[in-house]
Amino acid sequence: MRPIQMVDLKQQYAKIKSEVDSAIQDVLDNASFIQGKAVTDFAAGLSAYTGSRHTIPCANGTDALQIAMMALDLQPGDEVITPSFTYVATTEVVALLRLKPVFVEVDPKTFCMDPYSLEKAITPKTRAIVPVHLYGQSAPMEEILRIAGQHGLYVIEDNAQAIGSQYTFADGTTKKTGTLGIIGTTSFFPSKNLGCYGDGGAIFTDDDTLAGKLKMIANHGQSKRYYHDLVGCNSRLDSIQAAVLNVKLKNLDDYILSRRRAADHYDHSFANHPKITTPYRASYSHHVFHQYTLILEGVDRNGLNEWLAAKDIPSMIYYPVPAHRQKMFAAFGGASYQLATTDWLTERVISLPMHTELDEDQLQYISSSVLEYINRI
Ligand SMILES: *Cc1c(COP(=O)(O)O)cnc(C)c1O
Repeated sequence: MRPIQMVDLKQQYAKIKSEVDSAIQDVLDNASFIQGKAVTDFAAGLSAYTGSRHTIPCANGTDALQIAMMALDLQPGDEVITPSFTYVATTEVVALLRLKPVFVEVDPKTFCMDPYSLEKAITPKTRAIVPVHLYGQSAPMEEILRIAGQHGLYVIEDNAQAIGSQYTFADGTTKKTGTLGIIGTTSFFPSKNLGCYGDGGAIFTDDDTLAGKLKMIANHGQSKRYYHDLVGCNSRLDSIQAAVLNVKLKNLDDYILSRRRAADHYDHSFANHPKITTPYRASYSHHVFHQYTLILEGVDRNGLNEWLAAKDIPSMIYYPVPAHRQKMFAAFGGASYQLATTDWLTERVISLPMHTELDEDQLQYISSSVLEYINRI
């Protein structure tokens, strides 16, 4: 059996090596390292894939969130509502821009923003909502968009973990995640579902005016060369990364299929176990399984982690500290939040290896090792 990794990028690369190598070689031969053809091709390809009118590539998923908030002209002190149960980047940029992060609960079934908690957190200072499609499952966007509409709030989707996922509305219409809010953002960090071989990110919008502004902000606020109309930043996707992404975008749907197959295998192995809750699949969401995350009840989670490690099976806690308990947010009253569901989940979640290269033997070995530990006590 091949060694098991949380994410097996080596094996995935081996299958596309010749295509990737020649795409990178092209960039080297043309020396078009910044804003070359590979980047414009990729932006067009990703727009076609997601159905977004505009795709603005940028340097990483954190910048994508920052640029989105800058383009919406949010002012210091404006409140931005995010789930506390997320990767730090979602909330960090809010504070960086001197906006006020407001943390809300997630639904323990979906791990995504709880619309009820969201509604309760809205104040006259609220300007934007940032739902996160955590672990590859869409947040309940129809309800979130309805609430945002009622209160005149912007919705910025953090789609870093769910590129390729699709949302189905009650009337049956569908849209790709990242294209439902006024702006969507994503990350091409190597371990993401569509990852490059370094850092990368992108911003989505259907709004022509906003698209122009996002593009300018990502490039020093420049309207034409050396004319800077807005305060911006330097956040570009490298041509070499775009070249890699052009190859991988073609495989994205196959990658998602492989992840869903691995998830099916795990689901089947852990079905109806009294101590294990397998990932819920919301009917409106096409889950793309960025992570495969279990909720354990009455199991020594650290013990399981060590047991698996001794069998050369990695496992991870995403995330060990929710935003409201990070020291970073002490000045924003983080510690005063009462987010019982978030704390409850934080103590019980564990993520198993999830990637495109898991084979039957590996999945069998991981599942039986997990069950061996949980059933022996
Ligand atoms: C990875 C990630 C980001 C940040 O992306 P980077 O490219 O690493 O900056 C933001 N939000 C979520 C939910 C993520 O998983």
